[in-house]
Amino acid sequence: MCRCWGYRVNTCDRLRLWKAEASESFDFYAFNIGDYYGAVEEKVGSENLTKVLYPNDGTGEGRRLRLKQQHFFVSCSLQDMVRSLDARQLPISEFPDHWAVQLNDTHPSIAVAELMRLLIDEKQLGWDQAWDITTRSLSYTNHTLLPEALEKWGLDLFSSLLPRHLELIFEINRRFLQTVRMKYPGNEQILRRVSIISEDGEKAVRMANLATVGSHHVNGVAALHSELVRTELFPDYAAIWPEKFLNVTNGVTPRRWIALANPLLRNLLDETISADWVRDLDLLKELERFQHDSAFLERWGQMKLAVKRRLTNYVHQATGLLVDPATMFDVQVKRIHEYKRQHLNALQVIVQYLRIKHGLDEGQAPRTVIFGGKAAPGYYMAKLIIRLLNGIADTVNADPDMDGRLRVIFLADYNVKLGERVYPASDLSEQISTAGLEASGTGNMKFAMNGALTIGTLDGANVEIREQVGEENFFLFGRTTDGIEELRQQGYRPWEWVSGMPELAEALRLIEQGHFSNGDTELFKPLVENLTGRDPFYVLADFTDYLRAQDAVSAAWADREHWNRMSLLNSARTGFFSSDRSIREYAERIWKVKPFPITISCAIEGVESP
Ligand SMILES: *Cc1c(COP(=O)(O)O)cnc(C)c1O
Repeated sequence: MCRCWGYRVNTCDRLRLWKAEASESFDFYAFNIGDYYGAVEEKVGSENLTKVLYPNDGTGEGRRLRLKQQHFFVSCSLQDMVRSLDARQLPISEFPDHWAVQLNDTHPSIAVAELMRLLIDEKQLGWDQAWDITTRSLSYTNHTLLPEALEKWGLDLFSSLLPRHLELIFEINRRFLQTVRMKYPGNEQILRRVSIISEDGEKAVRMANLATVGSHHVNGVAALHSELVRTELFPDYAAIWPEKFLNVTNGVTPRRWIALANPLLRNLLDETISADWVRDLDLLKELERFQHDSAFLERWGQMKLAVKRRLTNYVHQATGLLVDPATMFDVQVKRIHEYKRQHLNALQVIVQYLRIKHGLDEGQAPRTVIFGGKAAPGYYMAKLIIRLLNGIADTVNADPDMDGRLRVIFLADYNVKLGERVYPASDLSEQISTAGLEASGTGNMKFAMNGALTIGTLDGANVEIREQVGEENFFLFGRTTDGIEELRQQGYRPWEWVSGMPELAEALRLIEQGHFSNGDTELFKPLVENLTGRDPFYVLADFTDYLRAQDAVSAAWADREHWNRMSLLNSARTGFFSSDRSIREYAERIWKVKPFPITISCAIEGVESP
């Protein structure tokens, strides 16, 4: 079978990017009567629609713009699909045969109402045919279970911007609830739960419900996450439509995340297993042949060291700090969010620091701990975590006792380009989210592919990474989804845990005393009070087991050939996480499309084919 879809083949795809422009750019009438702002107002106003994508949605105006954007982009794309059918003189009834519309999270889920509007109001179809076309064309990928991230639009805002869409949504909902009522007679509770319109508090449109009702398939992005979508988020829908729900585990592209980002690994792979791995990442398995070859493992380690040296140069240039590439690069790069628990890692680093100060660091691996990530502008606690990471870095890096033992780096402006430098140069990948809250993660895959070992919880795709690479090549810790739920039901009182964990207590005390804030005892108070008060992400509950796993990491680092073997096996066994595999699953199981026949011979003769 030829498996080289989408890369160096004789087909190409279109990517459309939409931009709003005023049809009249200058109002001469307004100009002539002296209204200079008014003369360009329409132009400026319309172009603002696509100037900044999704601004902070905390304020009323921001949220209004966001809904306008969602509708604008969705409408442009759907109208373009209809236009394309018309241009080819194909009947609108064939829409689902020519287009598969994948709703990437709820942000474009207004498409359910917009496609109905186009079919009914513009194409004059009847309701039943329009609904059949819509639900055979759309499918929805859920990306989060966090309640605050599931979009809801109040009816006031919705009806003032999109009155026709709201009318259509009410009718979609009325008909849907009618079918539910027939299936569950007299069950008012289920109607409340599955309704597209939420009646708790202010009435609102629940976009995830709209997307689910309007789609033929709904998928989560990792096995555990898809299971939670079925059992926790949408159990009622799963009972109504069991075959609608499935899993497609995410993947990342080996072109960017190995071939481009890690030329030293690319060369080694080309040499040892041929260049075909770029298009068939399962071929990485062939690396397993070398797992007991000491010379090869030594070469693998040298390759890794050279990649780390490259990052060392960047760190020096960006921060002025000199770090030793021979130390373990212990890395957590990702958006800053409490559920991702950068503060759990911060507490662990403080414990490592204290052990060195107290001369209790025997067996502790010398580490360069690297953080990177941005916080949403209005997310106060995430901003405070960034401040803490920088405070710890300042204190640790200025202390001569830490020389050769511990460095802490915070990389500002974390983005994809910086990621290309960081993932290949990492020894340890920190994937420490509260179980059940990280839908998949993709950083975890980029790290493992490039030979980093993971310290992680049973969350998102970590579960499948561990299955693939083998539990002996993965540092597992922390409570499971069920363990967290159990704790929640028992009534979690984090403050009662602190006294039982003396190293944690000392770390928290140091933060409170201003040790990482130049004596300022107020700065981090909200953070410490949050952890010892409610601790909504169970940082303290997982702390002891996290330290235990970190000690196991240090012990493993001491046997370098063994470490290199584990690193090699992580690369060798992560072919499953190629985006080629994910896309193939969407194509076969959801879109029901076959690969375009490839007329050139592919794969074998490698990169030179046209
Ligand atoms: C891959 C990637 C992410 C996603 O990281 P997670 O660890 O999965 O949250 C975020 N930002 C950038 C720049 C990335 O490259």
